Amino acid sequence: MAKIDVNIKMYRVGELGDCFLIHFTDGTATSSVLIDCGSFRNGGPSVERMKAVAADIKTQQKMAGGGPAPFDVVVGTHQHNDHLSGFVHAKDIFAEIGMKEVWLSWLDDPNDEKATLIAKGQRKLVDKLQKISALLPAMATAGLTNTVGEPSAADHINDVLGFYGLAAATADSSPAVPQDGINNLKSLGKKVSYLSPGQILDLPGLAPGAVKVYVLGPPRDNDLLFDINPGKGESYESKLTAAANVADGLHSALTNFDDGQTLAEEGFFPFDKKFTRSLTDDEFMNSAYKKKENHWKTIDQEWLDQAEQLALYLDTYTNNSSLVLAFELVESKKVLLFVGDAQTGNWLSWKTIQWNNPAISLDSLLQKTVFYKVGHHASHNATLPEYLEKMTNPDLAAMISVDNSDPNITKPNGWKMPAANLYKHLKQQTNFRILRMDGKYEPDCDPKLPEVQKKWGSLFANIDDKAAFVSYTVKG
Ligand SMILES: [Zn+2]
Repeated sequence: MAKIDVNIKMYRVGELGDCFLIHFTDGTATSSVLIDCGSFRNGGPSVERMKAVAADIKTQQKMAGGGPAPFDVVVGTHQHNDHLSGFVHAKDIFAEIGMKEVWLSWLDDPNDEKATLIAKGQRKLVDKLQKISALLPAMATAGLTNTVGEPSAADHINDVLGFYGLAAATADSSPAVPQDGINNLKSLGKKVSYLSPGQILDLPGLAPGAVKVYVLGPPRDNDLLFDINPGKGESYESKLTAAANVADGLHSALTNFDDGQTLAEEGFFPFDKKFTRSLTDDEFMNSAYKKKENHWKTIDQEWLDQAEQLALYLDTYTNNSSLVLAFELVESKKVLLFVGDAQTGNWLSWKTIQWNNPAISLDSLLQKTVFYKVGHHASHNATLPEYLEKMTNPDLAAMISVDNSDPNITKPNGWKMPAANLYKHLKQQTNFRILRMDGKYEPDCDPKLPEVQKKWGSLFANIDDKAAFVSYTVKG
């Protein structure tokens, strides 16, 4: 069987986001795969950048296929803005290129009963959090949401809603860009498949058996799908319902502050209405609530902390819903691992998969891995240390889709991407062979430096650093 070379282009989307264009070739036939295309924000500059990325991809498709070659496969890993916004903002360009197949996870399958229930619960929680988020500016004006110099719970909620294209800071009026992205993929794909763990597919566009694609996640197991720390035996329905109910109560309590109307939701309130005070009631605020000695009794930040927990819960769940694929080049026994933003629960589920062939084992897939797309922009809990430890192939290289100019990273107490300990471990496992979207390297793994190029050895020739993307070729 022919050996397969694989070229992986990581597009520079200018902020947090994933866009990977991959060409597999046996020297004659080429299979083109696009995994995600999105960036965190939906304002003008982000939209323009996504259009430019899509236009470059179109050019690459022409070069690879001798015409405007349609993608053999487009993968949407999970419903976050930073992975799907391009399919909304540059839909026309993607329509011109065309998509023979679209691969989504079982969670996007409209005929999957469990997926439909989960989507409903998720939608409800997002709606509630969006309403809560809309109330936050008024609370900030009242001086109730922030301690000067510290990021507030309100900031954290908006951060999470940003993944859904919903943050107040975005200029976009569309309520749900990621959902639109998935819908666009469904309409653009000539064939749409919804994948579940344990499935093994042939890569379309090449001879059957040349490249095997193993589906590792997202898990169908509720505990693993919904928990950062799995093992608490509650069902997905009760968890999302409970979260949405808490959001209900929280939202009612917050709305009660500003219009004085009696609401049906007051059944959720802990106290009778006659005990309530308006935040704009100066007498109450100045005489009691804002007094220094009463500071420990104030509750505004507590409410928000609860909302923040809900927002983080939602975020973890959505990251865990990532479609995880391992591409095996059968002849050379090399594996490329793309995990989207999968967090701990998703990773842990891989060892529970029952493959239809007993010869397949997770450990051997990890051992054969020569390319790893680092999970969730290299945050602290999206690469399981135990499994990274098992990626022992001497040729292992990694790509991190991080942009250290992203405001979520540069702000005070911003997101830790890449997380220091993970970065250290990655350097160890890859022998410093790490490519970053933003090209911002520490001296010990800067591929522009001769001592680092030595660590890459003959693999250094496989890097191509361009303005629009950085690419790496795995030779079969
Ligand atoms: Zn992401």
